[in-house]
Amino acid sequence: MSTILSKLQAVDSTIQAACTASQRPRADVHLLAVSKTFGADAVLEAFAAGQSAFGENYLQEALDKQVAVAAARPDAAVEWHFIGPIQSNKTRPLATHFDWVHTVERLKIAQRLSEQRPPTLPPLNVCLQVNISGEATKSGVAPADLVALAQQVALLPQLKLRGLMAIPEPETDVSKQRQAFAAVRALFDQLNADGFGLDTLSMGMSADLGAAIAEGATIVRVGSAIFGARHGA
Ligand SMILES: *Cc1c(COP(=O)(O)O)cnc(C)c1O
Repeated sequence: MSTILSKLQAVDSTIQAACTASQRPRADVHLLAVSKTFGADAVLEAFAAGQSAFGENYLQEALDKQVAVAAARPDAAVEWHFIGPIQSNKTRPLATHFDWVHTVERLKIAQRLSEQRPPTLPPLNVCLQVNISGEATKSGVAPADLVALAQQVALLPQLKLRGLMAIPEPETDVSKQRQAFAAVRALFDQLNADGFGLDTLSMGMSADLGAAIAEGATIVRVGSAIFGARHGA
């Protein structure tokens, strides 16, 4: 069985190869290790291997894991990203215990996150989740509504609007993977042409990170390629 260290090295090689192929600096692409369903022990093992940013989908699981990780390594500078669906009555722990939230898709949620972000902390980094696959999935703001949402989120004092996040429909054909990511990239470029100054494109997972990097991803969210197959959830 390969270790988390060796799998992290393999993912890094894949990222490096994709960067080389698209003539992008390796430093432009950040690896977010998606640790959902895996325990604090897995996070600690990845941290010991040099990984510092972790993505979680389920709030209570994430909060429990954060406590366990902090107890084991009080000195560890771990960066926590929330990448799951947000319930509007659960925004306070998100605003309090995370560094990033990738899945903002409604103004009401953004307003609550901004109001509930403790003033002692730096503004919460957020991405707007875009529904790039249309009917196929319900998550994310429709591209037609994106500019209006971005304009309002950008005004919220305790949020820092960093960019866009997308989860395209799973697709095995690389050119189709690239098409979906290119559409997200086009929205990102359009917002930046409007002066938003975004620096983050959160897209690409274990199965399609090469295509995402080719289309400009700056954060790839990788779970199973690092931690192995998930059981259940
Ligand atoms: C689970 C998950 C990932 C990681 O998926 P893998 O296929 O295991 O790499 C990435 N992004 C989101 C939003 C997820 O829910």
